[in-house]
Amino acid sequence: MTRQHENVKRIEYGEGILRDALAGVSSYVVVSMEVPWSLARPQVAKEPEQVFLIPNVQETTVEKVIAEAPETEWVVGIGGGQAIDVAKYLAFRRGAKLINVPTIVSTNAYVTPLSGIRRGDRVDYIGGIAPELVVVDYSLIRTAPKCLNVAGAGDVLSMHTASFDWEIAARAGEKAKGRTYEFNPEAVKTARAILAEFIAGAEEIGKVTNEGIKLIVDSYLRINDLCLPLGHFRPEEGSEHFFAYNAEHVAKHEFLHGAIVGLGIVLMSAVQGNDPKGIRKVLDTIGLDYSPAASQLTREQVITSLATAKEYALSRNLWYSVIDEANLTEASATALVNDLGL
Ligand SMILES: [Zn+2]
Repeated sequence: MTRQHENVKRIEYGEGILRDALAGVSSYVVVSMEVPWSLARPQVAKEPEQVFLIPNVQETTVEKVIAEAPETEWVVGIGGGQAIDVAKYLAFRRGAKLINVPTIVSTNAYVTPLSGIRRGDRVDYIGGIAPELVVVDYSLIRTAPKCLNVAGAGDVLSMHTASFDWEIAARAGEKAKGRTYEFNPEAVKTARAILAEFIAGAEEIGKVTNEGIKLIVDSYLRINDLCLPLGHFRPEEGSEHFFAYNAEHVAKHEFLHGAIVGLGIVLMSAVQGNDPKGIRKVLDTIGLDYSPAASQLTREQVITSLATAKEYALSRNLWYSVIDEANLTEASATALVNDLGL
């Protein structure tokens, strides 16, 4: 199937389609990780020139791959967000053509242009490349643990809180100056339309059916179509993400992105008074585990992350959101966490 989308030249969906998709490529290197490569390898008929199984996305790892990779026409990224991020960056640096093969749909890395590369404890988004082809092989994706695939819902459902934050920033006027983008009601309308269709398919997503996987991927494509021309991801990124970033800062470890964003959505929709019960029910239907435990967070760390969220947002000049207006303190954050039974 071919459709025109921002940043993705061609996308194919089907069961067991990886073999045919790679049959026609000339020389290529693979960037993957141990588990996804072991799953994909039986379907790879033509041997790659070299396979890089990366342990992480630290800059040193990435530069080593770039230094060692042979010259090839193609780079094929096989895996979740991290392997794909490194493949994208290698292809960008080499001017090679890129094929992305997501083996889980937990992030949108396989359809977005930039690569998230870690420099110490900071993630910088660098590079910029459009894949020639994205291969969505349902059977390959379904071999991954369900919790990883349903985590992909986090970055779609985040539109529920993020678009609301954009409206808050628009109403704040002068107070939000320099920390938001000009409000675009059409963009918010589109974001909510994508969100509504996604929510209608919550059961399919939860069961990780072909239809559910396609809905996650298609929603990411539509978010790209909305946000890349806008030049920012304000409709999709707001207080739920800022909470997540601060939680990482507080806990000093990385999370499964969808799980911590899910927790952020539950918390921030309540702070916003933005249908918290409704959106939480959607997360439950999908089976996205947003409990603090799913992110190896203690209750105290959640409370601290809430109570220091404003300070964090200001120090990083993050977009104006409900965090700026909610006056979250240790006491009110404790009450909120109690109320939500988290
Ligand atoms: Zn995200």
